[in-house]
Formats: sequence, C-alpha cells, structure tokens
Amino acid sequence: MALQRTFIMVKPDGVKRGLIGEIIKRFEQKGFTLLNAELMTINRTKAEYHYTEHKDKPFFGELVDFITSGPVFAMVWEGENIIEVSRLMIGKTSPAEAAPGTIRGDFANTKAENVIHGSDSLLSAEREIENFFGLLKRNIADDDFRYEDRQSM
Ligand code: UDP
Repeated sequence: MALQRTFIMVKPDGVKRGLIGEIIKRFEQKGFTLLNAELMTINRTKAEYHYTEHKDKPFFGELVDFITSGPVFAMVWEGENIIEVSRLMIGKTSPAEAAPGTIRGDFANTKAENVIHGSDSLLSAEREIENFFGLLKRNIADDDFRYEDRQSM
C-alpha cells in the first residue's frame, strides 16, 4: 500500500451541472482526504501545460477552449493507492465505455465534456498539483500543510 496524492478536477461541464458536491461525496465516502480545493477559471497557458501530452492531437484546441470556458473545481486528494483507485472511480474517457457506477459512467455524455479529470500517474499528479496550486510543503509531524510558490496567472 502506498499513500499518494492526486489532482482531481471537476471540469466546466461538471461545475455547470452542479456535480461538485456529488464528486466530493464519492471521494469522502471512499475514505480519501481532501487537502486543498479551489473554484478557478484557468487561462490558456495553464490549460495547455496541463494537457501538454495531447498538444499534437486533433482535439487539443477544442480541449483547451472547453477547459478555459468556465470555472473548474480543482482539488488535491490523498489516500492509499489513490492514483489507481480514483481512475477506477472516474471511469473510462469515453462515456460509451465508462462502466455504470463510475463518475463518467453515471454522469458523462460526451468524450470531450466528460465531467472530471484525474491524474494518471504519480509524475502527472505532481506536475498537475504544482500547475494549479504550487508546491506542497507538508509537515507530516504535526499534519500541517501549506502551498508555496503559487503562480499567479
Ligand atoms: N479528449 C477528447 N477527445 C478524445 C480524447 C480525449 O476531447 O478523443 C479529451 C477528454 O476531455 C479527456 C481529455 O481529452 O478527458 C484527456 O484525454 P485522456 O486520454 O488523457 O483521458 P483521461 O485521462 O481524461 O481519461
């Protein structure tokens, strides 16, 4: 077992549809710990960096348009094997393939606007958390944590 942190984001369609509470509830019920959360509208620079692995894909422009079209609800969660478990809770990218009971299986209708993002690896999680919240400095001894070097964008 490994205690991990991941970056979870309710996308603009999920925020508009009032799904923030439902998504937080699922992660809390699973026993995960919310470390930080913020409603924010991100600029294209942050969005392009977030989706940099897709920069040569034909859908990249529309993806950046979509993710910057309205507020997202960005979160940092912590838990045992949370990277893998959260991806199972989120479901497959395409709503046609996302199993019932997963967040996308229950709420998403299109591949592009699929409600939620979750980091797919420890490396992505680190990079994504830093992009949205800055560096996490956590003092495990007294369970205090804070974010530093937050970029103002
Ligand atoms: N996406 C899209 N069309 C595609 C594939 C992906 O619009 O054919 C969007 C979709 O919003 C997806 C995001 O790009 O969530 C990132 O794609 P990825 O393959 O990383 O899927 P995820 O990790 O979000 O399941």
